Amino acid sequence: MPLLPTYDDVAAAAVRLAGHAHRTPVLRSRTADALLGAEVFFKCENLQRAGAFKFRGAFNALSRFTPEQRRAGVVAFSSGNHAQAVALAGRMLGIPACLVMPQDAPAAKVAATRGYGAEVILFDRYTEDREAIGRRLAHERGMTLVPPYDHADVIAGQGTAAKELIDEVGSLDDLFVCLGGGGLLSGTALAVRALSPHCRVHGVEPEAGNDAQQSLARGEIVHIETPRTIADGAQTQHLGELTFAIIRRDVNDIVTASDGDLVQAMRFFAERMKLVVEPTGCLALAGARHAGLPLAGRRVGILVSGGNIDLARYSELLASERGGL
Ligand SMILES: *Cc1c(COP(=O)(O)O)cnc(C)c1O
Repeated sequence: MPLLPTYDDVAAAAVRLAGHAHRTPVLRSRTADALLGAEVFFKCENLQRAGAFKFRGAFNALSRFTPEQRRAGVVAFSSGNHAQAVALAGRMLGIPACLVMPQDAPAAKVAATRGYGAEVILFDRYTEDREAIGRRLAHERGMTLVPPYDHADVIAGQGTAAKELIDEVGSLDDLFVCLGGGGLLSGTALAVRALSPHCRVHGVEPEAGNDAQQSLARGEIVHIETPRTIADGAQTQHLGELTFAIIRRDVNDIVTASDGDLVQAMRFFAERMKLVVEPTGCLALAGARHAGLPLAGRRVGILVSGGNIDLARYSELLASERGGL
């Protein structure tokens, strides 16, 4: 296995990102404090450049390209936010970008990626293997493949969000983080173990696709079918080698949230905090609210991972469920 990234890599990524990524706000909500009986700190990566934390990992990875790699360009496959992040980072660094995206990705994500000047190639996520398509392009055009999560520079970049959160508010008792392939969760765990070592780190994945929970239970990476969930940023089929190794070592547990829990959390963010959060970005709050972990009196961080969603889809989801959080 390639070397695992460490906290030093997260700290180095923070230096590379300074002045390029937003230092996103940490928001509070009395209603959230009352609901969880805790002090709750929301790290708002829905307000990050390109609308999600993914910009951190992509910019960090692309900044480390050699001059030859920069000339040939970057290829990435993604359900959306990684694509936008690579496209934007590529444009900022003058690196041509080619993105392989699922046909059913939200239209806003495809349009935004093209808007950043990247080439987009669509595929069917239920019948085709995106990784094989990505690798073929990398081979044919000499482009460098930057995977969405299982890459040391990507993991280190993603860890900078939690570093900022703890640098700003001090140590935490619990931190909830969504996961698909686990890049954000593993980077977060590296930052937390160094900066707030006693904090419990909880991964939250969709109930429809709890492969990470199964993987931790079995002690090996479990592969599942593409889960059908509204959390389109977490429709991954398996953890990566690097992310699994870090999660296994540094994360306390993995809990799940149902699509109904996500819609409730989305309504909460809209109504109470005036935040547009995409379904995947709602996983952490939904997990904190519904997983039944004891949080009373604790300092709890919630990583809000992204806010990219078609407005038509957003209003449809908000209208689909009655009642608040
Ligand atoms: C990619 C993404 C995730 C999942 O991140 P991983 O690093 O694959 O675990 C969660 N939320 C949003 C908004 C994303 O774009």
